[in-house]
Amino acid sequence: MTDLFDQTHIWHPYTSMTNPLPTFKVKSASGAVIALEDGRQLIDGMSSWWCAIHGYNHAALNQAVTDQLQNMSHIMFGGFTHDPAIDLAKLLLQICPPNLDKIFYADSGSVAVEVALKMAVQYWSAQGQLNKTNFITTRSGYHGDTWNAMSVCDPVTGMHHIFGKSLPNRIFIPAPKIGFDQAWDSADIVELEQALEANHQNIAAFIIEPIVQGAGGMRFYHPEYLRQAKKLCEQYKVLMIFDEIATGFGRTGKLFAWEHAQVEPDIMCIGKALTGGYMTLSATLTTKHVAEMISQGEAGVFMHGPTFMANPLACAVALKSTQLLLEQDWQANIKRIENQLKEQLNPLADLAYVQDVRVLGAIGVVELKFDVDMKTLQQQFVERGIWIRPFGKLVYVMPPYIITKTQLETLLTQLVEVVQSMQEVNA
Ligand code: PMP
Repeated sequence: MTDLFDQTHIWHPYTSMTNPLPTFKVKSASGAVIALEDGRQLIDGMSSWWCAIHGYNHAALNQAVTDQLQNMSHIMFGGFTHDPAIDLAKLLLQICPPNLDKIFYADSGSVAVEVALKMAVQYWSAQGQLNKTNFITTRSGYHGDTWNAMSVCDPVTGMHHIFGKSLPNRIFIPAPKIGFDQAWDSADIVELEQALEANHQNIAAFIIEPIVQGAGGMRFYHPEYLRQAKKLCEQYKVLMIFDEIATGFGRTGKLFAWEHAQVEPDIMCIGKALTGGYMTLSATLTTKHVAEMISQGEAGVFMHGPTFMANPLACAVALKSTQLLLEQDWQANIKRIENQLKEQLNPLADLAYVQDVRVLGAIGVVELKFDVDMKTLQQQFVERGIWIRPFGKLVYVMPPYIITKTQLETLLTQLVEVVQSMQEVNA
């Protein structure tokens, strides 16, 4: 099954080159179904890591790409502009927090985070605040794999010690403890307050994934945390950056997760589902105030300009994907998925080796009391005709929104059976 050339020469995400995990060769994908080269068909539970919200091989998205291809696939953004970039920006600025007014296109989520961090530093440096260069963040966060994005990821799961002194030292506070649906307790915000009080003179921004901490643990926390954090950031003159790269475009039941708290950030990153999973594109949005301040600084400009900035193919498909989402009753659809996730996954909470089952929007998480054996589990899922990629203690799904009731039923029935059949290995 595993391709020998691939295994010998091609690196996959987070894998060893001497003892790589097996890979399954995909021939095609359509709707919520992934077809393997050997003929097996898998119901997709991952949306290619939050991206493919409308499923694969979508006629309207294919059309948007092919239409744009007739005009140009790419053109440099230095000195040029084009309708796909303009039309997409008009739409995004309508649906993102109302205070955000300027948009910077970049080429991946990690780069959007780098851009956000750089914006924050340039904002303060433009005001002569040359010490405000560090960042505060929570543990269990994930913001990407490039240097500075990595520096604000959870230091343990991100294995910061491997990189030693080469990695900038950030200020970490504990992850929010109060769950999304639990009663708020103001003790949850005390560590942020203390860290800001002690360090604010050196802090450019507080960066956080709103409501859902994704790859750092799939944790859903209380919206009040963000409201309190916002007040503190204002009090201590620290910018607030929301990383909505995973949570954006309806996944949590709101179009963007900030809406759960109604807290507007100073800077916000989006990516992943932006293009419906067709290709890589991200954006960092900020306020008129931050943008103007940066532009008044020593450089007079924002110091970043990726080669593939605002790639027209990516912008065209992002526009179509976002329009497709907004045209439908996506709230009702996410609710449908949420209800089914709850109904089928909640019974797993009774198992002695299951720590927690949680569902928010179209995200379903089963947290075990021990680390899963990814290789064995993935094999079992594939044999049962479903695609789920667990990590650590987590078996979780975030299916494409177009998944049918029957497909979702099969996906979850198989998931539940596999979890039920697990032996308690490391509990
Ligand atoms: N931020 C968050 C919240 C993410 O989930 C991810 C990707 N998993 C990133 C940033 C990085 O995005 P990319 O992989 O596109 O660089």
